Amino acid sequence: MNPEQMRALLQDITERAIAFRAGRGEAPARPLHTYAEARAAFEAALPEHGAPPEQVIAELAALAEPGLANMVGPRFFGWVIGATEPAGMAADWLTSVWGQNTGNAHATPASSACEEIAGRWLLDLLDLPRQSSVGFVTGATIANFTCLAAARGEVLRRVGWDVEADGLFGAPPVHVVLGEEAHSTVFSGLRYLGLGAKRVISVPVNEQGVMQRGAFAHAIEKLDGPIIAIAQAGHINSGAFDPFEEIAAAAQAKGAWLHVDGAFGLWARACPERSHLGRGLERADSWGVDGHKWLQTPHDSGYAIVRDAEAHRRAMLIAASYLPEGKERHPADYAPELSRRARGFATWAMIKALGRDGVADLVGRHCEQARRMAERLAGEPGIEVMNDVVLNQVAVRLGADMDGAAADALTDRTIARIQRDGVCFVGGANWRGRQIIRISVISANTTTADIDRSAEAILNAWRAERHANT
Ligand SMILES: *Cc1c(COP(=O)(O)O)cnc(C)c1O
Repeated sequence: MNPEQMRALLQDITERAIAFRAGRGEAPARPLHTYAEARAAFEAALPEHGAPPEQVIAELAALAEPGLANMVGPRFFGWVIGATEPAGMAADWLTSVWGQNTGNAHATPASSACEEIAGRWLLDLLDLPRQSSVGFVTGATIANFTCLAAARGEVLRRVGWDVEADGLFGAPPVHVVLGEEAHSTVFSGLRYLGLGAKRVISVPVNEQGVMQRGAFAHAIEKLDGPIIAIAQAGHINSGAFDPFEEIAAAAQAKGAWLHVDGAFGLWARACPERSHLGRGLERADSWGVDGHKWLQTPHDSGYAIVRDAEAHRRAMLIAASYLPEGKERHPADYAPELSRRARGFATWAMIKALGRDGVADLVGRHCEQARRMAERLAGEPGIEVMNDVVLNQVAVRLGADMDGAAADALTDRTIARIQRDGVCFVGGANWRGRQIIRISVISANTTTADIDRSAEAILNAWRAERHANT
């Protein structure tokens, strides 16, 4: 490709990008295509012959755009999804342009160094022990997995077992203790590590989904041998935090490794008005957190943070004869991947673009907006906000005055209607035995007006479905 062709290609995608982003404010929040329609659009036999890139891109955009959710729009409250903000998005473009395979510091000095500094900034922002190591991974799923791998290695090393060399066959049993409502991906991590998703000790939770007072200490009191404890900063439905002060104290007393799944909630520590929620979690041994949620980086971006950098490195080290070593920090030694994209650039760019005060404002604003949303909805007959809105999540129960099954069906129909209307996007979940609407306020683009408009759309859908029901 000559420079003129390159210019034409990049100008073409630039124009497409501008048009796409400019239209997000008023575009429907849901995808226009269903999965079946999207699949039909892409359905084609393997191309026998190549095609010019600009033609490929034009076709890709035409096929994909109707099936895209408006996840970067201002009224997308589904799951917990950041908005891929401009500085991170642009850094991510350059990341692809530069094409750095970011495994080794000598092979790609700039992307490795950028990652190291961005990692230090993260520790500062989240106020975690500054000696911790930071692995740049795809998201909190793999961040949790990576941290738990370090935990598994270290708790077994302390009892004289080298799991990295000898595996788990014949190893002393490891107790895993976690809250009854730990995130599903934590169980995936346990599965990948041979620790078993079901071989866990579940600590009972309260109505916010966090461990009951004293319950964790009670659960580990009588345990013997290596223990891995897993707590949560930011429950997926309520946004609530486990009681870290007492959990950390009890874990420490038993010599347990304490890991914190803080995919989005850990960011509360970057906001002075919310940092009290996570008080005590700095005493843990490891933390999994996302960039692509509250920091608004592009997908995929998560961070595995481990207090004991050596334990982290022992678990993830990739030694290959063809890779230069030396004393530098090699990115591949802290993530379960060798060849990968230079994720540090987008993180660096987002932190630089927001600054400490920008991150604090963003988190603070979302928490206030979530509260506003909850207040708007809670005034309506038949609607109940189930959680204390301490963070950015709102769990809404519809038909509070109705029989459970009927209310669940009505909730599902209301969610479908909200999605169809397209003003905003909310998802459902099952919590405490009931279908709920889960609203996550986490897009950098959401304004107060978007909250009011979305609350109105949700109320209208609820009134229409309730009316249709009677
Ligand atoms: C989102 C989330 C995860 C999983 O993170 P991914 O980035 O999707 O891999 C884990 N735990 C909690 C609490 C989450 O909110």
